[in-house]
Amino acid sequence: MSIPIYTYDAIVVGAGLAGCAAARELQTAGKKVAVITKLHPLRSHSGAAQGGINAAFSAEDSIELHEFDTVKGSDYLADQDAVEFLCKNAPETIRWIEKMGAAFSRTPDGKIAQRPFGGQSSPRACYAKDRTGLTLLQTIYEQADRAGVKFWDEWYAADIIYKDGKVSGVVAFKLRDMQIAIFNAKSVMFATGGYARSYKINSNAHANTGDGLSIVARHGLPLEDMEFVQFHPSGLSGNGVLISEAARGEGGQLFNSEGERFMTKYAPNAMELASRDVVARAILNEIREGRGVGPRKDAVFLNVTHLGKDLIMAKLPELRELAITFLGLDMIKEPILISATAHYSMGGIPVDIAGRARKNNTEFIEGFYAAGECSCVSVHGANRLGANSVLEALLFGRFVGKTMVSDLDKIELRKASSEDASRAEAEIAFVIGNNGDEKVPVLREELQQCMTANAGAFRSKKTLDLAIKTIKQLRKKYKNIRIKDKSTVFNTELQEAIEFGHMLDYSLFIVESAVARNESRGAHFREDFDTRDDEKFLKHTMAYMDKNGDISLDYMDVVLGKHELRARTY
Ligand SMILES: Cc1cc2nc3c(=O)[nH]c(=O)nc-3n(C[C@H](O)[C@H](O)[C@H](O)COP(=O)(O)OP(=O)(O)OC[C@H]3O[C@@H](n4cnc5c(N)ncnc54)[C@H](O)[C@@H]3O)c2cc1C
Repeated sequence: MSIPIYTYDAIVVGAGLAGCAAARELQTAGKKVAVITKLHPLRSHSGAAQGGINAAFSAEDSIELHEFDTVKGSDYLADQDAVEFLCKNAPETIRWIEKMGAAFSRTPDGKIAQRPFGGQSSPRACYAKDRTGLTLLQTIYEQADRAGVKFWDEWYAADIIYKDGKVSGVVAFKLRDMQIAIFNAKSVMFATGGYARSYKINSNAHANTGDGLSIVARHGLPLEDMEFVQFHPSGLSGNGVLISEAARGEGGQLFNSEGERFMTKYAPNAMELASRDVVARAILNEIREGRGVGPRKDAVFLNVTHLGKDLIMAKLPELRELAITFLGLDMIKEPILISATAHYSMGGIPVDIAGRARKNNTEFIEGFYAAGECSCVSVHGANRLGANSVLEALLFGRFVGKTMVSDLDKIELRKASSEDASRAEAEIAFVIGNNGDEKVPVLREELQQCMTANAGAFRSKKTLDLAIKTIKQLRKKYKNIRIKDKSTVFNTELQEAIEFGHMLDYSLFIVESAVARNESRGAHFREDFDTRDDEKFLKHTMAYMDKNGDISLDYMDVVLGKHELRARTY
């Protein structure tokens, strides 16, 4: 059967905040755009964001303070031109999404309410109770749909069509019946989200398997700053389900087994609202030194009881529900058990401020763009501040959509042919047809355990070398997998096997980039090099995978600016 070829002006892969915002821009500018998404748009992980979205507009706050906090939070690795763009356009982004229908929580006098978040000089996170992401996603999806964007949901993007420095489409298959199709277009944008699922304890949706990154990397294209994976301080003990920073923003406190409010030792000024990497390491350190709580002594207490029932029900109702469901603990009455959880990926597909994807340090890929968590602009550098990420996804999604509109006239459509689907077809044929004796869930468990143990909030050359060895062994075993389900109807076993292949590839980028960075900066903490080394490592990692799957590293300058390098204390 011949493969259908659909032609559009632009294809967006991913229907979270970044993808929907870009698609809406393209469609309202009169371009023909399709969004391919493996989930229904409203199931994208953006909808799980709880705490808030930053914008400096209160009388006590300023754009410059927002910039400073973001650059300091990034441990000076963020590109300051991109940070300026983010912070400057944040207040207008809030007005824009509000006008389209997003209902934010209010102060008694009717202004948009803002709550404090870690590492920020002023209460800056606008919120809709503790369901901020869902409110924003419902709004932008509704508006994209209203504008006439065509959503191909439950379609899995398997490959990009990339030749001679130019991207001209996407190869995808329909999850319902495995039908392959080619989406031919002048330009393609990836908004495929985060990838913390390669860790055992993580806060991410099951879909966050980093497909977009590995698809790009397999064409020999770079991934930037992959060593920087954020560990959020408060995941529910045992499973990592997120308890938003909003809990600490509203006044939640952390205690160890001795009843000590231990943040006094680690961040005497900011306490529980120090930057995420600082609080996460403090919690893990308390546990390592034997002051953990809970049946396995692998957690600390997060206490919000002093805030009172009314405040908790008004501002943190979702968090309370989560703790009751997963731990059987009611935060109105008692402290809950939390520990650090893999949460966010600072690294990704390198792009400039306009969203154009890089081929290397100096060249760009024609017709290829990225925004949101799968991209690296880089506004978060080595550590992201809470409530800066939904902002990044919405804001850059929208502006990258505008870039694509203005670039379209300059790009010529290269016509696709059925041969362009051959890599994707070969991948599917391998997974369906291979008859080895390895099971994907078993291999995935091994990868996740390995990443949590060896490439987590604390790492060293020794643990990272072990992770590299394990991932390489797992890759060999992957060649020997077998899936039981050979059908073509909603074959989730096949999908999971393909996703696991992606997890293996980008995980190798994480550990290879991490082992070469002999310093500690932001979320990347090396026990064998425990200080920041600006002389050698004030630079972005650019990592490339060759045809044999081996990784080589290069580096790219950081864009510095008015915020000068300082020691980072809270
Ligand atoms: C529990 C939780 C709470 C958070 N809270 C906050 C917060 O309060 N404030 C904040 O600023 N940030 C928060 N974050 C981070 C923030 O939500 C995300 O970084 C952001 O929403 C990512 O948006 P995105 O559009 O890039 O991707 P996503 O919303 O993750 O969307 C990814 C899309 O890509 C699609 N996709 C992926 N792979 C494929 C494929 N192979 N084929 C087709 N489609 C594909 C998916 O279907 C999905 O539509 C939170 C994150 C988590 C996990």
